[in-house]
Amino acid sequence: MGMTTSASVPAGPEGSIAPRGTVTDRLVDANEAYAAAFTDPGMDARPVLHVAIVACMDARLDLHAALGLELGDCHTIRNAGGVVTDDVIRSLTISQRALGTRSIVLIHHTGCGLENLTEDFRHELEDEVGQRPAWAVEAFRDVDQDVRQSMQRVRTSPFLVHTDDVRGFVFDVKTGLLREIDPA
Ligand SMILES: [Zn+2]
Repeated sequence: MGMTTSASVPAGPEGSIAPRGTVTDRLVDANEAYAAAFTDPGMDARPVLHVAIVACMDARLDLHAALGLELGDCHTIRNAGGVVTDDVIRSLTISQRALGTRSIVLIHHTGCGLENLTEDFRHELEDEVGQRPAWAVEAFRDVDQDVRQSMQRVRTSPFLVHTDDVRGFVFDVKTGLLREIDPA
């Protein structure tokens, strides 16, 4: 399993099949094809739909396809778990105050890797490398409760100007459907 052979590397724009090995080589080749067909849409950096989406980095979650989004529509902020960390608040603050977004959508999902971790992960890390990470793992057991906590962190942030339209969901990786979480 995995991309280990050069046989799956797509042909370059000239039609030559370069026997290059790494996944990044493959991405760079794909980009050449993308750029060849690309025309500058002349867009402003401000998201068309005035929305910022915070989601887990999970590879099974294709946000644009799942939500009917197009290029330029939204800001996308992703990390392990879709956790509202200080750095996510930093991005949301810039998104709202400098780039005009007003709505926030939070998306966690079923089968998240963070459900299988605990804060022991930090302690094991410290044992292994001799240094305690400054960040929390933010592991969770109850995905609904974690979405509620994320909504609460956003709504109570003093840095955000728009906290009246904040909604949270769990994406089901088996059905592709979103389930909204009641904040109460
Ligand atoms: Zn996840």
